[in-house]
Amino acid sequence: MADQMETKDYENGWKFLEELTENGHRIQEQVLEEILLRNAGTEYLSRFLHGQTDKQLFKNNAPIVTYEDIKPYIDRIANGETSNILLADPISEFIQSSGTSGGQPKLIPITAENFEKKTLELTLVDPVVKKYFDGLEKGKTMSLFFVKKGSETPSGLTVRTLSSCYFMSDSFKKSAPKICTSPIETILCLDHKQSMYCQLLTGLLQRDHVVSISSIFGSVLARSIKFLEDHWNELCSNIRTGCLSDWITDPGCRNAVSSILTRPNPELADAIEHICGNESWEGIIKKLWPKAKYINSVITGTMSQYISLLDFYGGGIPLVSPSYGSSESTFGINLNPLSNPHDVSYTFLPNMAYFEFLPVDKDGGENARESDFDGVSSQWSSEITNANGNVEPVNFANVKLGQYYEVVVTTFTGLYRYRVGDVLKLTGFHKNSPQFQFVERRNTVLSIDMDKTSEADLLKAIGNAKRHLEPLGFILMTFSSYAETSSIPGRYVLFWELKFKESTRCPKLDAKIMEQCCSIVEESLDFTYKSLREANKIAALELRVVKHGTFDALMDFYVSKGASINQYKTPCCIKSEEAVKVLNSGVVEKFFSPKTVFLS
Ligand code: AMP
Repeated sequence: MADQMETKDYENGWKFLEELTENGHRIQEQVLEEILLRNAGTEYLSRFLHGQTDKQLFKNNAPIVTYEDIKPYIDRIANGETSNILLADPISEFIQSSGTSGGQPKLIPITAENFEKKTLELTLVDPVVKKYFDGLEKGKTMSLFFVKKGSETPSGLTVRTLSSCYFMSDSFKKSAPKICTSPIETILCLDHKQSMYCQLLTGLLQRDHVVSISSIFGSVLARSIKFLEDHWNELCSNIRTGCLSDWITDPGCRNAVSSILTRPNPELADAIEHICGNESWEGIIKKLWPKAKYINSVITGTMSQYISLLDFYGGGIPLVSPSYGSSESTFGINLNPLSNPHDVSYTFLPNMAYFEFLPVDKDGGENARESDFDGVSSQWSSEITNANGNVEPVNFANVKLGQYYEVVVTTFTGLYRYRVGDVLKLTGFHKNSPQFQFVERRNTVLSIDMDKTSEADLLKAIGNAKRHLEPLGFILMTFSSYAETSSIPGRYVLFWELKFKESTRCPKLDAKIMEQCCSIVEESLDFTYKSLREANKIAALELRVVKHGTFDALMDFYVSKGASINQYKTPCCIKSEEAVKVLNSGVVEKFFSPKTVFLS
C-alpha cells in the first residue's frame, strides 16, 4: 500500500507522524473520551457505565474481554438487530479476521468513517520509506495483491477481509494504475492462479519501471516466486509471442493484460529466460527487477520463517516490514525501514484506537501455569494483579522498557478492552509513542503432557537448527509442526520444506546432519520439555522433510476452507487432522532425534 503520496504529501505525512507521536499521551486520552462520548449509550457499554462517559469508570467497570465475550452481540447484529447495541454509528460491513472462533471466522464491525481512517493512516508508511529510498515516485510497485470473495450475514451485511475491502475501494482503484504494475482487474480476479500469473506477467513486462516489490505478508511473496519458478517458461513464451496463455479465461485479466502485452517482445523474453534459466535462483528478484530498492512485506512474527528465503531471492535488496495491524485495529508502523528484519519494532499510532497493555511474564519450567484467562492456555502468565486477583493493564504513558505485554484495544467500532491475543515487547519510544517488537500470538502452542511450547520458542529452536543446514547450501523455506499423540508417549513432529541454493534439484540429505538438526531443536526447547523427554514422557522429536510445493498445497487447503491468500499465515503448529494429512502426503524423508541425555 506504499507509494501513494505525491512528493509534497511526503513532507506533510512525515510532519503529521511527528506530531502524532509527540502528542501520543494526549491523543490517547482524547481517543478514549471520544469513543465513550459516542458509545456510552449502547446496550453493551451502558451495562458498565450507566449512561456516564467517565474514563476511570470505564476502566474500573468494563471487563477485559475476548472475542467469545462479544460474540453474542456480533451474532445479534449479523442476524438483523441494529448495530447500536454495540456501537453508535451504523456499521457498513463486517471484516473477517484470519482468527476463528469455534471454527467460524471472527467478524469485526467496521464503519465507513473508520475504514477511511484506517486506510488513510496506512499511507503513513509512504513518507517513512521515502525518507530512506530516493526516486520511488519515478517508478511503480510490482505488487502481489489478492482479494477474496465476500459473503453475507443473514441480515444482508457484507463480510470481507480488510485487504479485500481496501483493494476494492474506490480510492485504491483510482490510485492503483499510478502505483502498481498489476492492473486492478488482475488484483480483483477471484481465481488466485490466474491473478498471480497475470500480476507476475505484467510485473515482468514493466520490469524496468519497478522500484519496489510488495505483498502484504512475506509468505505470499515467497509463494509467488515459487510460482514463477514453475511458470517462467510459459511467461517468457507469452512475452515472446505477445499472446496470453489460453487458460487465462478471466475477461478482466485478459483485457487488462492485453493493454500491456501489446506486441511480441523476443528481446525481453530472452533476457528473462537467461536469468531464470540459471541453476541457482539466488538474487532472482534483483536480477529480474534491477531497479527495485526494497521489498515491502510483513516478515515479523510467524513470517520471520521467510526471511532467509526472501534474502536469498532478494540478493541484498532490503526487506522492509512496514506495519503491524489486524482486522480489529491498526497498531503501528515501522519507522526504521532499514532495521534488521529480526529486530523490527513498530511505533504505535495513538489516534488509531485506545491501547492498553497487559503485562505478561514468561513462566517457563516448573512455574508454567494455565493462563488466568478463559480459553487461552499458554506459557504467558499475567504479572500484575490487583487485590481481587484481576490483571491490571497499563496505558501508553506507563509501559516499561523490556517488559512483555499483551495488547488490548478499545476501538471506535465496538470493541471495548478487547484482547487481540498478540504478545509484544517494548523496545523503545519514538517521542511519546511506544515501539514494540512483535513476539508471538499468545495462544499458538504445541502441547504434550505438561509441556507447552510457544510459537516464539519453536521459531527460535528451529532458527538454531536451520543455521546448521545453511553452510551445506540448504535454506529452510517454511515449516510447520504438530503434536503426535496417537502413540504413547507422544512426540512433536516438524515438517520442513527445503531449498537447495545451488540448483532447483535437491540433493540427497545427509541423515546424520538431519538428526543433528532434530537434536538442536530439542536442546533449544525449555527445561520442561527436556525434563519430560528425559523422563520418557515425550518421545524423540521427528522431522519430516516434504517435497517442493507441499506447503503451497497447505495454503491451497486453507484457502479452500475460506482463508484469504493475502492474510494467510502458515500455521506454526497445526491442530487440524486434515491439514496434517496434506503435509503427510508430501513427506519424502523422516528423521528422529537420537538425543537421549538432556539435563546432565
Ligand atoms: P488478521 O486480523 O487476519 O489481519 O490478522 C491479524 C494478526 O496478524 C495480528 O493479530 C498478528 O497476530 C498478525 N500480524 C499482523 N501484522 C503483523 C506484523 N507486522 N508482524 C507480526 N504479526 C502480524
